[in-house]
Amino acid sequence: MGYVPCLAFQEWLDYMVESATFLAGDLDAKIIYLDQLGSGASICERTDHQHKSPEPHFYGERKLTQRIREAIPEDAVICSEAHPEDTRLQFQNAFYQGGILRYLTRQIQVPMNMTRFAFPDVKCFNNIHGYVLTDNNWERLKFVLFNGDAFFMPRAYDPASFFGKEATLDFRKLFRIQHEYADAFTSSDVEPLIPTLIPGTFVNQFRADEKVIWTVFNANYRTAKGKLLEIAAKPATQYVDLWNGAPITTNTAGDTTWLVVEIGPRDVACISEVPEKKSTSQLSIGAE
Ligand SMILES: [Zn+2]
Repeated sequence: MGYVPCLAFQEWLDYMVESATFLAGDLDAKIIYLDQLGSGASICERTDHQHKSPEPHFYGERKLTQRIREAIPEDAVICSEAHPEDTRLQFQNAFYQGGILRYLTRQIQVPMNMTRFAFPDVKCFNNIHGYVLTDNNWERLKFVLFNGDAFFMPRAYDPASFFGKEATLDFRKLFRIQHEYADAFTSSDVEPLIPTLIPGTFVNQFRADEKVIWTVFNANYRTAKGKLLEIAAKPATQYVDLWNGAPITTNTAGDTTWLVVEIGPRDVACISEVPEKKSTSQLSIGAE
């Protein structure tokens, strides 16, 4: 742990704003990363400082982020550690956190990053503890997809020592789907936890132009089978599960279509709604 200055001191903020201005201005850096900032969890206990004691660094962090935002060029982004409070997200572009992957306990029915949906312009990089994906924690990658979120790539000089075989396969699938549908996953037209017809299943919706992606999590410890979603019927449209590489069965009556699924216990799916002509390439994504 490095030295953490008291952020109630104007001089420290001036120094850090000046440093960030130099990096993004003179050196043309495009990302300012604010290490240790984000949660506002540090507290100054000193009684001889010009602030109440104890004083959380929450206020100083917010002030610092705001001042850096005002000082650096518009095309330079600010990324912090941890998960900042909502009032600070207007000043920064990204953060990384372990919320949905590191602290996943049995008490959490569905691992949701609600910030990602409330502030779709802010990018969240999710990390998994230990940075190493050689044990069973690679399995949690599916929740990055479920949230339509970004992944905090571990540092690795020798990738083979960091990524197990299963993790590599899931990585490829995850990144391929996210790149293919980048416009939907980076869209502002997103909705978490839309109504579903099967108890214990959860669905998030991502829209861009005429494309729709639904990510699905079956939180049950048994297979979820049957009608999952009720949507408006669209002619010449195909529905494909990109994660499992299989077409989705539909039932249509009048103006209504039902998406019929079979999703394994604790598994996810990623359903795309695409015009029929695109269906062949979509199918190949999950199948490889
Ligand atoms: Zn202090």
